[in-house]
Amino acid sequence: MENLQKEIVSLAKRQGDLEDVVLEVMERRESAQERAAELTERVGAVQGKVDDATARRDAAFTEIDGEVATVSKEREVVVGSVPADLVKLYEKLRTQSGGVGAARLYQRRCEGCQLELNITEVNEVRAAAPDTVLRCENCRRILVRTSDSGI
Ligand SMILES: [Zn+2]
Repeated sequence: MENLQKEIVSLAKRQGDLEDVVLEVMERRESAQERAAELTERVGAVQGKVDDATARRDAAFTEIDGEVATVSKEREVVVGSVPADLVKLYEKLRTQSGGVGAARLYQRRCEGCQLELNITEVNEVRAAAPDTVLRCENCRRILVRTSDSGI
């Protein structure tokens, strides 16, 4: 009888311990569920930002493609109005000079290489006919004269 009572006390204690474990597990599960919900919400917010950025990128691509098409058509018109040998020279220089085959002559300075023409070069430019194709002595780009050339 005494042994039976000891076993009952022991089992009651064991039951109490197990109930504590169950409570602790339930609390941890609840905490984990809250954390999961919080993270799911954050993932949703980040995904929203990604979707927004993707949509803006795609819109920018579309706009850029449109500009490329417009500029390409304008370029074709300009190329058609320039003598073929000059276009050929320009394309060659453009390939050799990092994409810039012609540069404005602005206040006696080549805007291709940023160097100022010396007095001899200035005199050569002054003496040249308006339709003469001039080249920068330094970078070899075609020099485009304007009213701001300083010549
Ligand atoms: Zn130059």
